Amino acid sequence: MEELEVIDRAEQWAGFLKKKCKAQLNKISREFPSTRSLEIGYDVLEKYGKIGTILADDLLEHPGKTLNDIKDAIRAAHLITGKDVEGNDISDEVISKTNIRFVHLPRKTLIRDIRSEHINKFISIDGIIRRVTEVRPRLVVGAFRCANGHITRKAQEYGSYSEPDMCGNAECTQKKLELIQSMSTFIDSQKIRVQETPEGLRGGEQPQTIDIDCIDDICGTVTPGDRVIINGILRSVQRVQNGQKSTVFDLYVECNSIEISVKEFEEVNITEEDEAAIIEMAKDPGIYGKIARSIAPTIYGNEDVKEAIALQLFGGIAKEMPDGSSLRGDIHMLLVGDPGIAKSQILRYVIKLAPRGVYTSGKSASSAGLTAAAVKDDLGDGRWTLEAGALVLADKGMAAVDEMDKMQKDDRSSLHEAMEQQSISIAKAGINATLRTRCSLLGAANPKLGRFDEYSNISEQINMPPSLLSRFDLIFILKDEPNETRDLNIANHILKSHSAGEKIMRHKKYPIPGADDEYFRQELAPVTAEIDAVMLRKYLAYAKRNCFPLLTPEAKDALVDYYKKLRSVAYDNQDKPVPVTARQLEALVRLAEASARVRLADIIEIDDARRVIKIVDTCLRQVAYDPKTGNLDIDKIASGTTKAGRTLRRDLKDTIKECMDGGAAKIDAVYAKMVSLNYTKEEVEKMVETMRRNGELLTPKNDTVKLI
Ligand code: ADP
Ligand code: MG
Repeated sequence: MEELEVIDRAEQWAGFLKKKCKAQLNKISREFPSTRSLEIGYDVLEKYGKIGTILADDLLEHPGKTLNDIKDAIRAAHLITGKDVEGNDISDEVISKTNIRFVHLPRKTLIRDIRSEHINKFISIDGIIRRVTEVRPRLVVGAFRCANGHITRKAQEYGSYSEPDMCGNAECTQKKLELIQSMSTFIDSQKIRVQETPEGLRGGEQPQTIDIDCIDDICGTVTPGDRVIINGILRSVQRVQNGQKSTVFDLYVECNSIEISVKEFEEVNITEEDEAAIIEMAKDPGIYGKIARSIAPTIYGNEDVKEAIALQLFGGIAKEMPDGSSLRGDIHMLLVGDPGIAKSQILRYVIKLAPRGVYTSGKSASSAGLTAAAVKDDLGDGRWTLEAGALVLADKGMAAVDEMDKMQKDDRSSLHEAMEQQSISIAKAGINATLRTRCSLLGAANPKLGRFDEYSNISEQINMPPSLLSRFDLIFILKDEPNETRDLNIANHILKSHSAGEKIMRHKKYPIPGADDEYFRQELAPVTAEIDAVMLRKYLAYAKRNCFPLLTPEAKDALVDYYKKLRSVAYDNQDKPVPVTARQLEALVRLAEASARVRLADIIEIDDARRVIKIVDTCLRQVAYDPKTGNLDIDKIASGTTKAGRTLRRDLKDTIKECMDGGAAKIDAVYAKMVSLNYTKEEVEKMVETMRRNGELLTPKNDTVKLI
């Protein structure tokens, strides 16, 4: 009976393959070994009548057996043929080396839902590639030779190497056998680790991962950061602890096929009603404020920051030029400021709105850090593995990096490329890859000394080189300055959310009489977004998908005029610092594009230009404004010191040299001389302290100073 059924199955498969896969089968016959995989659409199979449904079910339930059935069917019906150069029939070998791969499975299993019931079943999972190992050969069938020259073959199991106990020749008693590589069979293998997609996570959950074992021609086809669908059989391997076999098993997926998904904003589903609502909302002249107020509504104030974040979420237009170069459209933003002013809160909120939002901290424990790293660890069984960091995982989305001042040194240098070129190249050991980081970056940093000091340069205070700072389109300095009305407003706002929250919690345990949905809606109104997060995400996706505005001549002139005005500070006076670099002009354009996108407009108008000039101006004034001269001085970002600061530094150095007496200069003499040069004692003291911290000078005794 059983026998009969097998024959039946093989016949049914043969029937299906002949009808639906003939072209592919012929291609393999012609092109083997360069083509050696047969790709079958599960959807095609499922629609192949009643038999199709049965076969499809078979695959899910008994994948190992089914894949063998298919090969049997191919063999029996001579669906694939092969000849070697001498014309001998090698069809059998070709068929056994052909891979049967299934794609387009309709149902996905979430990585976090994988359980023992799925073991040995065919599953399909959605995810993002977190790590890949090098592609290396793996032994499948070992050929072992004894001292008498007999060859014994032994098939190898996944993950463990085993030798035959003794020579397989019946008349031979040799027990010492040696592996002969040239006669053994190897196959290319690669392990990858797949992580749940950020979209699938419910607020703040840590993504889970599963390891995937790939062999043969699908090795090396993916890189970290790729969005993929993995189809394969869930397998279990016994854990070994301190050489002892454990009762606990680890899971991995024996990969059958990988589909690289290209969907971007399709992840957000927009219905026709949604579309109508979005177009209606875009007509409202107050839409900018509405969107800005819908970002982190529990945070009071910070309107300018929120407006800028709104533009960042919409983003500029990424341009690909005919010469192959590309211009980034993503807007990078940095919030610098005193602790406790809700920087972290804003970041966490924004990530919930952004498509593919990834939140991380600069001091994160992951070895890949912010960009990517090649490491040697357990995943690769000693092989090198390439791991994706936050910016790679956020490709085509947004990365929020908190505590950027505390990031590792390696990250600081690799961020330059990641932010501007939007890719990271890694060449280490057998790994050679370019990973894409086409995301916008929203960073937050605390000043090193706790509070922001407007007299010292930012770069030093937040431990980021000026070259990196110049890659941010906007830098906001948030100061926690006591101000009675503002403080009171913040306090009221914070208490409103707390008291509404208290009532909700109490109501759950001891129902408040008369408290219905409407009551809570009213209670929560002050801290509720005007546009709820679900709708806002749709709005963003819609704008990014459909809106590609063009610059009008008026807007272009306005941007160029503003840029020229900033630059002119330098033309007027040779001695003045160059205030603005070309990067700022690019930032202006990107922001103006985003501003037009908010209205879903086709053109970038003068008002868009004005809006972004205002924002950029506020930011530049905060970060590049030199409190000593009153000039705008981009050198404060670009080189870390202001022109005035540089003069002070130079004069101080000269003075110390002049006052040298023996090995060091008397500090009082230095101060006196500097004051006579029209500097205040405080600012000289501050500069001495800064230079001492930078290792530019020493104060060997309290009253002496010397240059290094
Ligand atoms: P930071 O990261 O800037 O050090 P946090 O984001 O951790 O600060 O914020 C500290 C706390 O203060 C948070 O609970 C936040 O809600 C509250 N807070 C600070 N400023 C505001 C504000 N303007 N409106 C509402 N809450 C605020
Ligand atoms: Mg913080």
